[in-house]
Amino acid sequence: MSEFYALLGVARDASEADIKKAYRKLAMEFHPDRNPAPDAEAKFKEITEAYEVLRDPQKRAAYDRYGKAGLGGAGGGFGFHHVDLSEALNIFMRDFGGLSGLDSLFGGGRPRHDARRGQDVRVTVKLSLADVAAGIKKSVRFKAPDRCTNCQGSGAKPGTRPVTCATCGGSGEVRRAARSMFGQFVSVSPCPTCAGEGTVIQDVCEVCRGEGRVRADKTVSVDIPPGVSTNNYLTLRGQGAAGPRNGPAGDLLVMLDIRDDERFERQGDDLIFDLPLSFSQVALGVQVRVPTPYGEEEVRIAAGTQPETIVRLRGRGLPVLGQSSKGDLIVRVHVWTPERLSPEQERLFQELAKHEGEPPKRSPGFWSKLKEALGA
Ligand SMILES: [Zn+2]
Ligand SMILES: [Zn+2]
Repeated sequence: MSEFYALLGVARDASEADIKKAYRKLAMEFHPDRNPAPDAEAKFKEITEAYEVLRDPQKRAAYDRYGKAGLGGAGGGFGFHHVDLSEALNIFMRDFGGLSGLDSLFGGGRPRHDARRGQDVRVTVKLSLADVAAGIKKSVRFKAPDRCTNCQGSGAKPGTRPVTCATCGGSGEVRRAARSMFGQFVSVSPCPTCAGEGTVIQDVCEVCRGEGRVRADKTVSVDIPPGVSTNNYLTLRGQGAAGPRNGPAGDLLVMLDIRDDERFERQGDDLIFDLPLSFSQVALGVQVRVPTPYGEEEVRIAAGTQPETIVRLRGRGLPVLGQSSKGDLIVRVHVWTPERLSPEQERLFQELAKHEGEPPKRSPGFWSKLKEALGA
């Protein structure tokens, strides 16, 4: 019963935060981009599965009562299934933003020495702020080698088979005795005839010319969680280029490019909106509509509002990646001064000037007000 708890190394009464923390630590250790050990991938999937259940209060309650049986099956449970690697990577990405920073992308990690592995393919997906606010499923199209259907990827003409390489006898290696000043030794190198594969194709497939793959247009559907930013990326394992002659496929790396939205300035999960108001509007107070990523919203600007005042609309910013909370929309009030006055306006301002009184000698500085508004 305590299997999932044990996997994450947490107590049964662990808080949500404890579970998250424990998972994150383990995930950073076993993430296949960081840990090349052969069993890291399996471990990563296991802990992600445990995490995905325990972080969800409903699933966790069901698991606590009935174990894994409570998580799925015909009874209309939560549809428990074992996560595959791309799901696990996406869950980690969703809740922790992936291994953030592009530096970690191509550095170290997963072994790249397999000559038959297909290349990783990088695609960039452009997103609007509305996409970031809501999350979105995107179809990405790209050109990459795909397995040849004529020869099922073998590279051999249909009806024929690759034959054992005569040079190396199928071992893929050639050994040579060599002499050096230290005596005789054996050098081992990949077989030059079969490039280490151990087999050679005599009758090549006429479609792929023995490559086992052909250039193709691929379309992959990508689930982009809410709250992403430009430095996040998604790794779709095995969705990149097919490897030659049924070698393992490379990965599809989906880079995100979020277009600027001229209405807002983004600061992490918060959005800043500059609101210009006239002097009479701030003096008298006014009800205005401001844009948010979720539609327009009414905002009451109090009478006597000072320039550069900040009005914070809580939870109207962008979603925090992997969480249900949202940032704020910060409305920055600017006071607009008319540059040209009609005779009628001038007359009214003259009249006003007689009655408006003196401004105070010291007005609270902008920065101290800003700090106040930000609660610093
Ligand atoms: Zn050979
Ligand atoms: Zn072929």
